[in-house]
Amino acid sequence: MSATRIDGKAFAAGLRERVGVLAEEFSAKAGRKAGLAVVLVGDDPASQVYVGSKGKATVAANMASFEHKLAGDTSQADLLALIDRLNGDDSVDGILVQLPLPDHLDEQAVVDRIVPNKDVDGLTPVSTGRLALGLNGMVPCTPLGSLMLLKDQLGSLEGLNAVVIGRSILVGKPMAQLLLDANATVTIAHSRTKDLPEIVRRADIVVAAVGRPEMVKRDWLKEGATVIDVGINRLAPAEGETKGRLVGDVDFGEASEVAGAITPVPGGVGPMTIAVLLRNTIVAAHHNAGIDLAE
Ligand code: NDP
Repeated sequence: MSATRIDGKAFAAGLRERVGVLAEEFSAKAGRKAGLAVVLVGDDPASQVYVGSKGKATVAANMASFEHKLAGDTSQADLLALIDRLNGDDSVDGILVQLPLPDHLDEQAVVDRIVPNKDVDGLTPVSTGRLALGLNGMVPCTPLGSLMLLKDQLGSLEGLNAVVIGRSILVGKPMAQLLLDANATVTIAHSRTKDLPEIVRRADIVVAAVGRPEMVKRDWLKEGATVIDVGINRLAPAEGETKGRLVGDVDFGEASEVAGAITPVPGGVGPMTIAVLLRNTIVAAHHNAGIDLAE
């Protein structure tokens, strides 16, 4: 059997297009563009690439992009002052602080300073709390994108056994919460979990968010399971390569022989993250401007 390949790239392109239309309609109604501010501290090359692509995608979706690039030695007070300014700026609907921040900065305190109605990354305590309570609010982009792919693939998730491997604030925990809200029966696994392969074998849905290249193998999976691979890992370059290959947390080749459907890496969950960020921004913009949004 060969698994269906879940095309996150195509799904994300469709979502970006829909957001672009909503953003155009928003501009006409609000008399201004929806705006996303991205804050980058320091010159980490990977973060610079992420921030650049977020900015381009924002503009391509008919929204305004505000990039704030600060020196690596920026103080906590100066960073908080910028967040305060963005909180009070009516042209900014969403604020995203690119993580990780340099070590001398208190990441949680910076994220906590973002007003909840502009928290498009869904990481403030208010957003996290609302998700736990099952209330409407901003949901982190990667798990929400993963849920969209699952629903698109499976329809209802009701009663399905889901195993989420990983319990980070960014991915694992909100993913588990979303699956629970969709009435799946959810198990959260992590580095201290015993008999992980045995637990994963019971799952109709496996979400791997670990950061360990190709950890999930063929014999961990139940026949026909739907596999969402969140992991992005770069292998060491093989002979003759300048850059190593990107792989997920699941052994794609092996898993494809058993799974019913699986996301590839790259081209699966990755493209969904930016698309959902744009979606969260246009949702926030409508909310902030007091305009109804029929998604
Ligand atoms: P974290 O490092 O924050 O969390 C990893 C989780 O995996 C932890 O809960 C950890 O357990 C668990 N874990 C580690 N080793 C094992 C193991 N051997 N068995 C079981 N569980 C284990 O990572 P993130 O959640 O931020 O990211 C996970 C992966 O997803 C990474 O590869 C990252 O690059 C990728 N990612 C991809 C995104 C995308 O857009 N596609 C966006 C964000 C992340 P414990 O809590 O016990 O330490």
